[in-house]
Amino acid sequence: METDKNPVLFLTGVLLLLIQDISFLLTVFLNPGIPPRDMSIHSEAYINKLIRSHLYCNICKVVYREGQEQTEHCPDCGFCIEGLDHHCPWSSKCIGSGNMTAFKFFLGSTVILMIYLFTGGMLVVAAS
Ligand SMILES: [Zn+2]
Ligand SMILES: [Zn+2]
Repeated sequence: METDKNPVLFLTGVLLLLIQDISFLLTVFLNPGIPPRDMSIHSEAYINKLIRSHLYCNICKVVYREGQEQTEHCPDCGFCIEGLDHHCPWSSKCIGSGNMTAFKFFLGSTVILMIYLFTGGMLVVAAS
């Protein structure tokens, strides 16, 4: 089998690589979920809200929004991130609610691309 001259196999590889690269770039450049700052920071209602709840970051000066219990401060980024999963050292970015879908696409396409490359390599070795 001439695997090195099969256009379908070649285009499949290019497509997988494009999906992986684009999803990685989206993971890096999308807002991971930095919450908006509360503009009523000096109001009495704001201070009462701080006293009642512990959903507040003293560094970012933000009150976490309702239903955003997973909001945490990332010491690497220096920001609070809604739906924080982890800080990814490979993309140098937090993975949160804003870029989780792109991150999952990146992981999935990387695994599929690795399988594709390994299988293709084995076919080339077997054909030679
Ligand atoms: Zn914070
Ligand atoms: Zn981070």
